Amino acid sequence: MNADLHCHSTISDGLLPPATVVRRAAANGVDLLALTDHDAIGGYAEAAAVANEVGIRLVSGVEISIEWGDLSVHVVGLGFDPDDTGLRQGLASVCSGRIERARRMDAELARVGITGTFDGAMRYAENPTLISRAHFARHLVERGVCNDVHKVFESYLVPGKPGYVDHRWATLEEAVGWIRGAGGIAVVAHPARYRFASGALMRFLHEFRAVGGQGVEVVSGSHTADQIQQFARIARDFGFYASRGSDFHGPEESYVDLGRLVDLPAGLDPVWDHF
Ligand code: AMP
Ligand code: MN
Ligand code: MN
Ligand code: MN
Repeated sequence: MNADLHCHSTISDGLLPPATVVRRAAANGVDLLALTDHDAIGGYAEAAAVANEVGIRLVSGVEISIEWGDLSVHVVGLGFDPDDTGLRQGLASVCSGRIERARRMDAELARVGITGTFDGAMRYAENPTLISRAHFARHLVERGVCNDVHKVFESYLVPGKPGYVDHRWATLEEAVGWIRGAGGIAVVAHPARYRFASGALMRFLHEFRAVGGQGVEVVSGSHTADQIQQFARIARDFGFYASRGSDFHGPEESYVDLGRLVDLPAGLDPVWDHF
């Protein structure tokens, strides 16, 4: 089973439209796909139509931005009812602050002499309400401030660097509640990527489970082999379902291509057995 349960399209900060993502996944041998745009499910209908046409199984997906302490953490929702009103309203509330946040990012970058980034980033965003740091990063590359988007995130847009601003995202409890309320499964996205202080990862995972979270991405495009083993152990210890996802954003911007991931380690409970 080649499952890829984490990727993005132009609905949020991916580079390819939903239909192209699904075709590319099918061409790469993916059997089961979830399109997990940031804070939005607007790509589902298009993806479902193409999935049907090319004969690949699609489950609904979304990647919700939450704040936990002073960290921003991502929770992936899978296999929910895409028409659920509570989930839709919750996602709309998360998106509503993004434009105002982008204006504050523009002001912060202007303080170091880089002006006009709001308009520049917006040109990359198909949906203004989903304006993302990724769109700012592409614009900064276009201007020659950095050579590629990974370099941008080393020097800009992250805590302590120019262009970063705090933001009020959803809470952990809200995000998991919207997903569960819509009949879905909540999974911690790329758990090795967050800069948890010592002990905080375990506290976060206990809290995630206590509010109804059920899974972790064990195999992620951004995980090393050691991190895959670490989160396989954690999944077994906590009784979490294990997920697998590339976090593909586009051909030149991603850790790995769609479906090009190692298998889940043995002895885990795959999340796709529970949709
Ligand atoms: P936002 O949701 O606006 O905070 O933007 C977060 C997005 O920025 C992520 O989903 C990635 O697409 C992108 N991003 C964050 N950190 C990095 C990084 N180190 N390298 C490349 N892209 C990144
Ligand atoms: Mn992204
Ligand atoms: Mn993420
Ligand atoms: Mn992602």
